[in-house]
Amino acid sequence: MDERSPLEVEIRRRITAAGPMPVAEYMALCLGDAEHGYYMTRDPLGARGDFITAPEISQMFGELIGLWMAAVWKQLGAPENIRIIELGPGHGTMMKDALRAVQVMPAFRDALVVHLIEISPALRAQQERTLDALTTQVLWHAALDEVPNGPAIIVANEFFDALPVNQAVKSERAWHERQIEIDFAGNLAFTVARDPLPRFEMLLPPAARQAPEQSIFEWRADTVAMDIGRRIADDGGAALVIDYGHVESAVGETLQAVGQHAYADPLTTPGGIDITAHVDFQALARAVEAMGANGFGPVEQSQFLRRLGIETRAAALKAKATSRAAADIDSALARLLGHDRTGMGMLFKVAAFAHPSVGALPGFEA
Ligand code: SAH
Repeated sequence: MDERSPLEVEIRRRITAAGPMPVAEYMALCLGDAEHGYYMTRDPLGARGDFITAPEISQMFGELIGLWMAAVWKQLGAPENIRIIELGPGHGTMMKDALRAVQVMPAFRDALVVHLIEISPALRAQQERTLDALTTQVLWHAALDEVPNGPAIIVANEFFDALPVNQAVKSERAWHERQIEIDFAGNLAFTVARDPLPRFEMLLPPAARQAPEQSIFEWRADTVAMDIGRRIADDGGAALVIDYGHVESAVGETLQAVGQHAYADPLTTPGGIDITAHVDFQALARAVEAMGANGFGPVEQSQFLRRLGIETRAAALKAKATSRAAADIDSALARLLGHDRTGMGMLFKVAAFAHPSVGALPGFEA
């Protein structure tokens, strides 16, 4: 028999003791278990890791986010103190590039304090290294509600996809929670709860109620989205959420596991692979807006980055680059904007939120 990881042993123990485990609980353990969770023990990012993200593809990404934050700060009335909050900063690359870009705006640079929300000790250490040389004050927190009150600009790239997702499966009469059990052969396997989820259909968007049998509907706890909305509505500020996902709530399974840049079975090597699911931007917006913030978008990442001027920035960088570096800039641009299979331009969406007193945010103009 193959060796089981310590996390798999623990998951099996829990299933044996308490019965099948909801998908969200499984995902939360796989990613965030304090001892064996995927993010807690390793550095998943980069060419040698399991996946690569936009800020790791090109410095242009973080630079444009920096300029976006500076423009939004002005729209907020240029408050003397502004909290720049990033959820799930990975290597800290986006923040490093953003802060470098805003050095040309001393008033904004001097008004900001950076707050990074990170659960992983390994990645937090990496963020400390990345941001070490900066003069900007950087503070770390485990959760958004630990950041002191006051106006804030919140940014999150590929954060929400890593939050645990619940799944329900439609049967002839009702929806049942999807769970993980130990099957007859002794393997972890998907199953569905015998009892239906009470009144689940009422919570679904009308189109999803008509879905055929066996359809899967995914949803997340709205806690973080509501925290963002509450903060913005109470203290002023704005938020930017970039992730892969769909514009409207719909049925469909998007739970996926990735290890070393290839798809993997989410039930093998728990804790050893990344597990994510698409972000439902409609559900996200509903939760943020319910707290009193205004929503913008979502727009496709390609459209957002073009509106912020990524092509002009690429041309400026290329003008100073060797031909080899210029080719790298072109391929980074193609990846960030591309609508083909390898491109992020279409699958990735960008949504923003702001206090109701703030007009249309950069990148979301009508
Ligand atoms: N934004 C980065 C990293 C994306 S990976 C980039 O674009 O490169 C997801 C990040 O979110 C990691 O830093 C991970 O450790 C962090 N993370 C995941 N779940 C979290 C949670 N519940 N609270 C705080 N950070 C979390």
